[in-house]
Amino acid sequence: MTKAHYGPMPDDKGFFGDFGGALVPEPLDRIMREIAEAYVAIRDTPAFQEELKDLQIHYVGRPSPVYHAKRLTAHCGGAQIYLKREDLNHTGAHKINHCLGEALLAKHMGKTKVLAETGAGQHGVALATACALVGIDCEIHMGQVDVEKEAPNVGKMKILGCRLVPVTRGTATLKDAVDSAFEEYLKDPENSFYAIGSVVGPHPFPMMVRDFQRIIGEEARAQFLSMTGRLPDTITACVGGGSNAIGLFSAFLEDESVRIVGVEPAGEGLDTPRNAATLTLGTPGAIHGFKCYVLQDDKGEPLPVHSIASGLDYPGVGPQHSYLKELGAVDYESVTDTECLDAFMKLSRLEGIIPALESAHAVAYAMKLAKDLPADKTILVNLSGRGDKDVDFVAERLGL
Ligand SMILES: *Cc1c(COP(=O)(O)O)cnc(C)c1O
Repeated sequence: MTKAHYGPMPDDKGFFGDFGGALVPEPLDRIMREIAEAYVAIRDTPAFQEELKDLQIHYVGRPSPVYHAKRLTAHCGGAQIYLKREDLNHTGAHKINHCLGEALLAKHMGKTKVLAETGAGQHGVALATACALVGIDCEIHMGQVDVEKEAPNVGKMKILGCRLVPVTRGTATLKDAVDSAFEEYLKDPENSFYAIGSVVGPHPFPMMVRDFQRIIGEEARAQFLSMTGRLPDTITACVGGGSNAIGLFSAFLEDESVRIVGVEPAGEGLDTPRNAATLTLGTPGAIHGFKCYVLQDDKGEPLPVHSIASGLDYPGVGPQHSYLKELGAVDYESVTDTECLDAFMKLSRLEGIIPALESAHAVAYAMKLAKDLPADKTILVNLSGRGDKDVDFVAERLGL
């Protein structure tokens, strides 16, 4: 099936084909419907649009450039590789795009507090930044194990003025932080706003987060056209929950000539349990209040997953990606931890750009693809973030 069948998505219940929805009990179901209604009412108002646009330009530093990576291209010997530089945004990744949108929406809805969980702390830092800027209270729940592992992000969140709640129950990691933050949210959903960190969770989050990330693709499409006079032959991005990828892909879904590829983490290999290649190896199921492809056991319980990039190790994936896979509108491939590390080093040493380990998955795929294509073909890679957070880990792992 061609990409033209994609159409406007999701439907008013939040479904992308069979995927998505809001599989949550009362009172959450009612609250999600209220957020969806408020979002649809506010998003198109001039006040909201102008405030967001102004911050995107003067605060985030948009538009982020598209860069022709000529030395990386020469090294691979084939198609031309271009990078959409989301790593140059304020706070160093694409996450600020949806965090700003969510914080502004919370303010426009009259909420007084924004709540979220965080794993490695990337979502927490981006959200705490947006909340400091917008002037709204922020509370982040984080597993005690992660609090101890991620000292720089913990420090940033505290400096930015958010209330950091260490969670000691259970395994004291991400899943427990989600439970804890949700319990807190349900105490006062009238005055608080739960900010999900990717295109996952119940409707309207997959739609809303996508809409806030769509600016990546809109800018990149126009920039690439004006730089080269045509559209890229292939566009690619890493897929964890899928927000940076859907942000890029959204603007190209109607372009029949553009091949779109999402890159999943193959971890230590697709033939081992140590990966998080949800769309490659998973099956349709449900997780965290929505339907999508899931890496699950016989009973429908999510399996433990692994990636060298903590932002990619999630056993579910955005419902729109699940649908685009089924339509055949987007191809989903995977690269291993080893290939990711190699791309991380190559991009650093050939271009002077240290990528996030998440983003290095997309770079690794582009490097493999470029070799097999002629020099007049082009590949546009979404460089979702910078690698400051990963330098200690990589230096130690490679014995530098
Ligand atoms: C969080 C993160 C990701 C993964 O999230 P998506 O929702 O899949 O985009 C990718 N890259 C960077 C730099 C991140 O911080």
